[in-house]
Parts: sequence; C-alpha cells; structure tokens
Amino acid sequence: MAGSWTLLPLGWRVVSKINQIIREEINAIGGQEMLMPLLHPKEIWNETGRWDTATDIMYKLKDQRDREYALSFTHEEIVMDLLRKHIQSYQDLPVALYHFSTKFRNEPRARSGILRGREFLMKDLYSAHVSEEDLMDFYEKVKDAYKKIFTRLGFTYRVTEASGGVFTDKHTHEFQVLTESGEDSVYYCSNCDWGVNHELVGENPPKMCPMCGKQSVVQSRAIEVGNIFPLGTWYAEKMNAYFTDNKGQQKPMWFGSYGIGPSRVMGALVEVSHDENGIIWFPQIAPFDAHLISLPGGEEQASAVYKKLTEQGIDVLWDDRQISAGTKFSDADLIGIPWRFVVSQKTGEKIEVKKRNEKEVKILSMKDVLELLISSS
Ligand code: ATP
Ligand code: MG
Repeated sequence: MAGSWTLLPLGWRVVSKINQIIREEINAIGGQEMLMPLLHPKEIWNETGRWDTATDIMYKLKDQRDREYALSFTHEEIVMDLLRKHIQSYQDLPVALYHFSTKFRNEPRARSGILRGREFLMKDLYSAHVSEEDLMDFYEKVKDAYKKIFTRLGFTYRVTEASGGVFTDKHTHEFQVLTESGEDSVYYCSNCDWGVNHELVGENPPKMCPMCGKQSVVQSRAIEVGNIFPLGTWYAEKMNAYFTDNKGQQKPMWFGSYGIGPSRVMGALVEVSHDENGIIWFPQIAPFDAHLISLPGGEEQASAVYKKLTEQGIDVLWDDRQISAGTKFSDADLIGIPWRFVVSQKTGEKIEVKKRNEKEVKILSMKDVLELLISSS
C-alpha cells in the first residue's frame, strides 16, 4: 500500500552505508547505540498528554483484551522512562542514546515514495543534561556532526530554523537538501549561513538577510533530511525525570532529540543524482563499487576479473545473465553503480571501463583497472 515499502537487496545495501556514516559521526560525539521497542502502552503517552495531542500522526491499536497501544512515531517518552529509572545524580549525566529503527506515522500525503512513508527508518538520538548550557553545548555538537554526515553523503544542503511541531514550542533546526523536487520551501542567505523554513516566515520572507544584512536572501524547494530539537525540561517535568544536583537539590533533566531519516536520505540522493537512464550513486553510498557485465566469449575472463577485484576488497555486482547486451547495459545505467566493466570475446584479456557519470569508454588491462580504482577511492 502507499507509504509502506520493502527495501530490496540493492536498496538495503545503500541504506546500510548511509547508516554507517551516521553511526560513525554520532559515536564520535559520544552517542551510544541501542534498540528500543515500537509497541508502546497508552499509559506512557498519557504522561505527556501526547496520546491526545498527537492524534493526527499516531497509529493506535487495541488488542483482543481491549488494551490500547501506540505504534511508535518517536521515542521521547520511552527514553524519559529509561532515564528516570537509571539516572539518579548529576554524576550520571550527560548521556546520549540512539537507535536505528522503524517509525510509524499516519501521513495524510504518502505520495512521494520512500521520501514520505507511513512506516520508515529513522536514526533518533536523545540526550539528557544537568543544565541548559550543557544541552545547548551538545546541541551544537550534534549540529556539527549532522553537517559532517550530510557533507559525507554528498548533499548540497542548508540548515534552516523551523517550528517544533508536536515536539516542542521552541524553534528547531532542520537540514534541508536543496532540490526542485522537494516538498518544503526554504529561504536562505547566499552570503552567510542564515536559513529559515517557509512555515516560520509565511507570506513575508525577508529580502535582507537578518544575520549579515546583505540583500542576498534566496528561495528554494528542499527535502528535509534531518531535524534537531532542543526540548528543554518539559518532558522531564511531565514524566518526573529528576536528578540530584551537586548541591543536593532535585532538578529536572534538560533534554534534546535529534532525527535523521535514512530511507528518506536514500530517496533524496536519487533526486539529486540521476539522469534520464537511471540513478547515479555517489561512490560512498553506492550498493556496489563496480558493475561487471560478461558478454558471450567473456565468461572466463569475467570470472578472473570478479575474483581479482573481490580479493582487493572491491564489491562487484556481476551480471552473468544469459540475456541481450542491450538489457544488461540499460540495467547497469538504471542501477547506477559508479564503475561499469565489460568483458567479451572482443575485449579478450582486457576490460572495457566506463564511469556511470561519464560518456568516455576505455579499454584497460587488469593492472590498470586496479590502479584506477585504488587511485580514485
Ligand atoms: P516532515 O516535515 O517532512 O513531515 P518531520 O519534521 O515530521 O518531517 P521529524 O519528526 O523531524 O520529521 O523526523 C526526523 C527525520 O525523519 C526527518 O528529518 C526525515 O528525514 C525523516 N522523516 C520524517 N517523516 C518521514 C516520513 N514520513 N518518511 C520518511 N522519512 C521521514
Ligand atoms: Mg522535522
């Protein structure tokens, strides 16, 4: 049905690579990976009142004995419950926990494929702190980690100020990939870092940048790929998550949450890098490094090439199907793996080499192919 997707093996390889980039950067700022449940009792959502206020987005269900549950659309309440059970004193803080898992959201418009699923993947990170200062210090670290992640993924993006939706009254920061196919609209300064979501400025966007003063505000369509929320003490107060400070007083924890949608990220990568024949994956997240096509008379050579490349740690997808060359070539373009190698009776001991994003074809020896791959990685 619309909004509910299977990720096939090639897509899953891409998502796994995206996840690994996210994981490395979140671990580098002290995040600890874990895994939380998706089926939540109604009672925990009543503690913050979100059982009643997040009704548009939340899937609710009843079991055979009339017990009510929510399918997770986010995990603030679950993390708060963990924190109040495990954190006693200021010495237990700060803490930063995250997981990769499914989110369920009753999206009214699930028309954009994996860009807007009714169940989708999210990396969500949560942090708890003794003070607002410590929270905001970590918030800036997450912002920097996100910048590294989206740069490593190959995006042209902007950080924009946005509203907090069902999460908070405070302003938040979104990471917006600039592309005409995006659902969001953002304004940003082409001279400095300032940016804002259309929803915050409505019909009256500034012409002059409020940060640098230049007449350099421009508008773009965009896809939101990440969002960070400085939530404050609201959740801790609602859910009674207090710690003892260094003067022996009970204080509510300062809390933040930070999301990235890896499945939407994959969709956004396709939006920004494709041509009329298919996807053009950036090498760092491509499902395989090389796409090997064997044509009649080239089977033995293909087997040797496959073995040699694989031994060097290069991931090769070998198309050894007994079908027309034309179909193999068009499938290679569609799938979008960065390097295409063809071996046939015609190429003999050599290999025909082409990059997905270039027109030029070269005939090289195995040794030259290896050098080329190593020098370009
Ligand atoms: P949107 O405004 O696009 O509906 P959101 O602001 O509700 O998204 P957040 O709650 O900030 O989303 O979720 C964090 C991240 O999860 C988003 O930045 C996005 O990458 C991803 N995400 C959110 N909703 C979806 C969805 N329906 N399908 C796929 N990814 C999603
Ligand atoms: Mg958001």
